Amino acid sequence: MDRTPMHNSSPNIVPPSTTTTATHHANHVSNKMVYVCGECHKDNELKSTDVIRCNECGYRILYKKRTKRLIVYDAR
Ligand SMILES: [Zn+2]
Repeated sequence: MDRTPMHNSSPNIVPPSTTTTATHHANHVSNKMVYVCGECHKDNELKSTDVIRCNECGYRILYKKRTKRLIVYDAR
């Protein structure tokens, strides 16, 4: 009977606490959206921070244009 001591005398090595400072500060995502003027139907490329207003006629009602592909919600 050989009782090998389960003694693990190695000190608990704690990894240096990497204080993950959130370096993710919202790096200005210039998500431009294309809006269609409700008046003259011109395309207006606006940023989310821009004032929603037609560059052509100054109309304030613009519709979000679906660029690229259509978002298909497939409810399965
Ligand atoms: Zn317009």
